[in-house]
Amino acid sequence: MSSPISRVAKVELFHVAIPLPATFRPAWIPGMPSNENRFTLVRVTTDEGVEGYSAGPAIGRERAGLGDLLGPYLLGEDATDIALIQQRLREISYLGWRNWWIEPAFWDIKGKIEGKPVYELLGGAACSVRLYASTGEVKEPEARIEEAEARYAEGFSTVKLRVHDFDEAIDIRQVTATAQAVGNRMKIAVDANQGWRVTIVGDSPLWDLERAKRFADACADVGVVWIEEPIAMDAYENLSSLTEYSRVPIAGGELNSSGLPELKTMIERRCYDIFQPDAVFTGGIAQTWQVIQLLQKHDLSYAPHTWTNGIGFAVNLQLFAASGFAETRELEYPLAPPGWTVAARDGILEDPFDHNHGVLETPTSPGLGFTIDRKALARWGKRFSIMDRKRLIWFSLRHRGINASKEIDRARRQRMGRA
Ligand SMILES: [Mg+2]
Repeated sequence: MSSPISRVAKVELFHVAIPLPATFRPAWIPGMPSNENRFTLVRVTTDEGVEGYSAGPAIGRERAGLGDLLGPYLLGEDATDIALIQQRLREISYLGWRNWWIEPAFWDIKGKIEGKPVYELLGGAACSVRLYASTGEVKEPEARIEEAEARYAEGFSTVKLRVHDFDEAIDIRQVTATAQAVGNRMKIAVDANQGWRVTIVGDSPLWDLERAKRFADACADVGVVWIEEPIAMDAYENLSSLTEYSRVPIAGGELNSSGLPELKTMIERRCYDIFQPDAVFTGGIAQTWQVIQLLQKHDLSYAPHTWTNGIGFAVNLQLFAASGFAETRELEYPLAPPGWTVAARDGILEDPFDHNHGVLETPTSPGLGFTIDRKALARWGKRFSIMDRKRLIWFSLRHRGINASKEIDRARRQRMGRA
């Protein structure tokens, strides 16, 4: 006998703001002091009470109206039908945002119902994942070397630096000084964060192909292992040229939010050597999984971006573990103390994703592999939207009146075979 369908009964949105122990100044938003780890948390609950979670980065409650959309689009649907959920999120995007960050919540539900971690649903098995230390701030060479040394002492063998200066000589000095100091013990990667340039607070340098080539040459001379986002994420032609030219592998693709169709084209054009799709942005787990298959076919590499929050890290950890690339590559581990710490990054998770000498064992619990700490959620989170069957009926009556509401209800029941 087939099991009954697990229907979406409730969708809730929370604004979560976890205080950081010290001010963090992300390289990618010059001039912006950050004192909180902020995101929108979605909780999807099925008729049987199975809960799935996911999260998307946020400033405030900019998604305040999203619940009005999610209610009519998702309530009553089969929570384990990922293709259908993908279809719904695509339909919603017509009205504005790309909401791929919501999709992993349904994998969380699917895994919990089947009693399997998501990497097993994808055909993978539990494994050890090696991590690289991903720094977040631009620093003077001295402070940078101190930071790299600290990560080395903790057991990391690769560190990713950030450069963001108007003077390219300063960027290059930053890399060469670090390489001279720790290059014999650590691998060094560099992120220019040019993929999605932000100038809302301070100004930010704008790299062109020529600057990127000069930087790649300097990096090649000191053995840098990859250069990340050296030019705009949609400068497809220039990315292909740079990747062909550079002796250092070029990486990127974390925010290409058109998902599979866009990344497929970028793979075919060989825009990067190492693709870094973050499932929270690049089409959810389902599309990103297909991107990974294409990368294998084209003999290109995969090392996902994970820097949003602890839940975003968990989502990409599942994909990375299932991909097979964990055998040869390291996963991004966002860590920039004293501001961006594991405790603040994973602040609403019962078991933070701590590392052991730069290694993490994949979680064995079903779904996305974390449990929400309800006390922490109550403390740092505030629910701003709730949609369930009853509320949806009121919503419909208020906005469409009784006749249209009845007609809509009949048509939906018919489609779902529940007439
Ligand atoms: Mg990056």
